[in-house]
Amino acid sequence: MILVLKKGLDQRRIDDVRERLQQLGLASESAQGFDHMLVIVAGDASTMPAHLFTQIEGVQKVINVSARCPLVLSTTGDNFALAGQATGLVSELPLIIAGPCSVESEEQILETAQAVKQAGAHALRGGAFKPRTNPYDFRGLGDQALVFLANAGRLTGLPVVSEVMSAEQLGRAHDYIDVFQVGARNMYNYELLKELGQTRKPILLKRAMSATIDEFLQAAEYILLEGNLQVILCERGIRTFETRTRNTLDLNAVALLKTLTKLPVIVDPSHGTGRSNLVRPLANAAIACGADGLMIETHCRPATSISDADQAVTPDQLGEIISQVKAIARLLQPQASSSAPPAVQPEQKVLIRQH
Ligand code: PEP
Ligand code: MN
Repeated sequence: MILVLKKGLDQRRIDDVRERLQQLGLASESAQGFDHMLVIVAGDASTMPAHLFTQIEGVQKVINVSARCPLVLSTTGDNFALAGQATGLVSELPLIIAGPCSVESEEQILETAQAVKQAGAHALRGGAFKPRTNPYDFRGLGDQALVFLANAGRLTGLPVVSEVMSAEQLGRAHDYIDVFQVGARNMYNYELLKELGQTRKPILLKRAMSATIDEFLQAAEYILLEGNLQVILCERGIRTFETRTRNTLDLNAVALLKTLTKLPVIVDPSHGTGRSNLVRPLANAAIACGADGLMIETHCRPATSISDADQAVTPDQLGEIISQVKAIARLLQPQASSSAPPAVQPEQKVLIRQH
């Protein structure tokens, strides 16, 4: 953190600023900037509220050089792996999560689970509680869907991923679901994030449609702070001026997140584009730019899908996508001679409990 001081402060007032930092337990250095004195805070101020610094007499501006999310920035991939080891599943990368937008019936989710497993997916997704923009749209089968999902997971051996929107739904879903999804609309639901942080199951945290990368990281911090280190970040497209696609998939964010955090980063090209024929190219691009995995909406008969029909791919299409992204991941495996940072790290494991 750097404090930019008001112009013309004499040495005594500069010392007062540093004295105040000292009281806060922070070492500092002063330096002459071009036209302002600067005070560089040497200690760790990342968890301290900004007003402690903006309110110091003589401070004009506070420059925070890192987002205030020390756990997200320092968590090692090992933390994720270790927390997961206790519970079981090891998946190769890229991690593929596939399944329908919504669980529609027991037969539908079982048929889809078998088909996505056959296509090479590692985990099954399916919405039981659906956040819908329009309240008249299908909002999911709720508790019934949880039972169908758990059953499909048990019969296929796939862990199941499903969204919860409240602490109350979390309680109802807890024993049926292996990975809790936080949807884009709930990334800012801090009470929910805190509750999920109290669980010991992996959390798939989707970026809100208008969230900055720092807001996204700080949402993850809420979960880590409660002691749950198994957070998977998911880029699912942001809202821009463009209307031809449902969202704009922000692959900048993926490449950047991979430089900022060791948490796994996956991409949802289904919601990112809203169009089934764009899922494959964007899935390829996501893996090429370093994503650790993909979440792909897959339906055995997309035209009949109750929700998000336009973006659903078939299990056959999913199989083609998986073979292409695996080839890309192999191609980008770090060569012994290369000094470039690896785009993907196939040896890194993403761990989720398996039945
Ligand atoms: C979903 O995964 O079906 C979903 C509703 O996603 P998002 O929260 O990204 O819109
Ligand atoms: Mn959907």
